[in-house]
Amino acid sequence: MLEKTGVPDPEQVKDITPSEERLQKGPVVIVECFQNIPCDPCRHACRQGAIKEFEDINDLPEVDHDLCNGCGLCISECPGLAIFVIDATYSEEEGLVKMPYEYLPLPEENEEVTGTDTEGRPICSARVIKVQNAKALDRTPVVTLAVPRQHLMKVRSFVRKGGE
Ligand code: SF4
Ligand code: SF4
Repeated sequence: MLEKTGVPDPEQVKDITPSEERLQKGPVVIVECFQNIPCDPCRHACRQGAIKEFEDINDLPEVDHDLCNGCGLCISECPGLAIFVIDATYSEEEGLVKMPYEYLPLPEENEEVTGTDTEGRPICSARVIKVQNAKALDRTPVVTLAVPRQHLMKVRSFVRKGGE
């Protein structure tokens, strides 16, 4: 499926998803990188050693979720826009998804948007919590969305309500 559509199948996603126990401890990375390409900036971005050393530049990143502190430093370093940080402990009803977002104009904090999945399908209403666009992010802004908890593992992007 991945080769034809660019969309991973559910088994591939399951393999890289942090355990429920880890999710309940706070923010943690989820690296949705499934194609062997010569690329490794994610590993160099991580100061916690949570992304294991690559033996070959074409390796897929292997993550130790117990070493990840959810800092999000790796998100904007990924040219494939494949890295997210999930916080399942945000509130009783909502969790946070921190994601790369390279469209303009950037949303405003507190703006209501429509969360979408990896295929761009609308999933739910979501709220912009934070927009980070510092120079150090090198033109890959990072947006944090609050989404209903049941959609935490589905929402990976968003569209603004005006359709932008
Ligand atoms: S979120 Fe932070 S600690 Fe976790 S893998 Fe990325 S850079 Fe490392
Ligand atoms: S930087 Fe992104 S695309 Fe490159 S190996 Fe890491 S996760 Fe995959």
